[in-house]
Amino acid sequence: MSDPAPIETPPSSAVDSAVPDPDDRDTAAIEVRNLSRSFPGVHAVRSVSFTVARGQVIGFVGANGAGKTTTMRILATLDHPDAGAARVCGFDVVRYPAEVRRRIGWMPDHYGTYSNMTVLEYLDFFARALGFRGEERLQRISEVMDFTDLTGLADRLVDTLSKGMGQRLCLGRALIHDPEVLILDEPAAGLDPKARVELKHLLRILSEEGKTVFISSHILSELGEMCDSLLFIHQGEIIHHGSAESLRRGSAATCLVEVRLAHSIERLAEWVSLHPHVTFREATRNGGRIEIDSAEPGEIATVLRHMIRDDLPVTDFHLQERKLEDAFIEILGEIEASGVPVVG
Ligand code: ATP
Repeated sequence: MSDPAPIETPPSSAVDSAVPDPDDRDTAAIEVRNLSRSFPGVHAVRSVSFTVARGQVIGFVGANGAGKTTTMRILATLDHPDAGAARVCGFDVVRYPAEVRRRIGWMPDHYGTYSNMTVLEYLDFFARALGFRGEERLQRISEVMDFTDLTGLADRLVDTLSKGMGQRLCLGRALIHDPEVLILDEPAAGLDPKARVELKHLLRILSEEGKTVFISSHILSELGEMCDSLLFIHQGEIIHHGSAESLRRGSAATCLVEVRLAHSIERLAEWVSLHPHVTFREATRNGGRIEIDSAEPGEIATVLRHMIRDDLPVTDFHLQERKLEDAFIEILGEIEASGVPVVG
């Protein structure tokens, strides 16, 4: 990889000159407008726009090199955009970096380790750097170690921690100043399943506390479980922003339903043959898969009601959702088919 291009000051027109009111809770937690950033030979981020409301958990999804880290580093005030603007709690990241830093907890995809420094010393170092003194500093460190389950590791050297312990430490560091907005770049990468569950649990608590969480990951199924919505980026462009549920449902005008019967499973196909808006797709061990000519919840409920009215012994009736990975691939396919220029 070549060296980064020198940081350029963005055009003044790109930056909002108004000083925001920090107490205005109506301001979005994150607001990005037409943000662009290039490196020699690479348009890493191209005119990206999105908004994250306060208290939301947003998953930032994209393949390797899609532009996630570049966007997050700009939000974390570690890089400048070439064009466009980004605000955190109303503060422009270029004009008010100190205000932004006060409000964000940043967890990079790789964090520096220090030899001969214990977990306690590491957190103490950052707490001091953030301006905490005396009793308040000790209190914050103790709370963070308790929350991230690091108390028992206080005397362990940082460079001897496992990946999962290290990620907890990195999260702890991001939380010392109790920020409103967390920007987490691939926090689950390289963690074993148990450590991932633990991390998910911590993020759930933080979101219940009302924090805004902007989190990137490749593991779509995990993000789907914990995020209010997912933001897909592909070759530097946002290609989709929506809830995991709407993605799983897709834009299809029909829906697939798996039906199980307690007995007499042949009755399912017979029943379907009498109902023109329902098609029998395939038999399964205890029933079959049917397709309903509508994705409207009311219409789907009517089909179930009519099955029960007609004495079908239904034990299970559930929508077959698309996997998020399939939804992502489908969106990419649609973009390529529509000829929208995504290659650069
Ligand atoms: P990954 O999932 O692999 O971390 P990503 O979505 O975070 O990928 P970025 O790190 O934002 O992607 O990179 C976007 C593009 O910009 C890539 O082509 C990358 O090589 C390039 N890039 C990022 N930083 C630099 C840099 N400092 N100098 C040159 N190119 C860079």
